[in-house]
Amino acid sequence: MHCPFCRHTDSRVVDSRTSDDGTAIRRRRLCPACHRRFSTMETAGLTVIKRSGASEPFSRHKIIVGVRKACQGRPVSEDDLALLAQRVEEAVRAGGHAEIEAHDVGLAILGPLRQLDEVAYLRFASVYQSFDSLEDFEQAIMALRAGDEKVLTGPEPAMGGGLAGSPPAPSGVGAGRASQQVSVVQGGAS
Ligand SMILES: [Zn+2]
Repeated sequence: MHCPFCRHTDSRVVDSRTSDDGTAIRRRRLCPACHRRFSTMETAGLTVIKRSGASEPFSRHKIIVGVRKACQGRPVSEDDLALLAQRVEEAVRAGGHAEIEAHDVGLAILGPLRQLDEVAYLRFASVYQSFDSLEDFEQAIMALRAGDEKVLTGPEPAMGGGLAGSPPAPSGVGAGRASQQVSVVQGGAS
């Protein structure tokens, strides 16, 4: 590892610790030439597979650029965007896969963005999920009001579309709804 200050071609590791979630190692290094210290982070490679089939390294910067567009004119700071990108990266890394599809990166953005700013969220979702009618917006807004993440993040394309053969509704569902998240929005008119 070259020293970032004097470009000396060697450095010594003086400390090494694993991040809390275990997905990264931070090393403190000492340059034997200029005696300055610097840190490096070691993480597993994470590759994003685009719809075209091309792949590229995961980039927080790209997340920020994409989300920033949706946040224009909204009270969202650069720090907010940086934190969102960090949360997205943590979420996709938590999946434990070396490769992830771009679509899934988009899904991972929706949750944190919704908590950050609902208008920006609607803008992002409308592009990302290809809203093409007012009904799409109505559904997304209704889901926002209902706090139902499933409608927003897990749309299954309707296959077949026949009316016959719908599965019988299981009885006794609703026992395990305790983990549903409710986000608090300040300043709502009553
Ligand atoms: Zn140096």
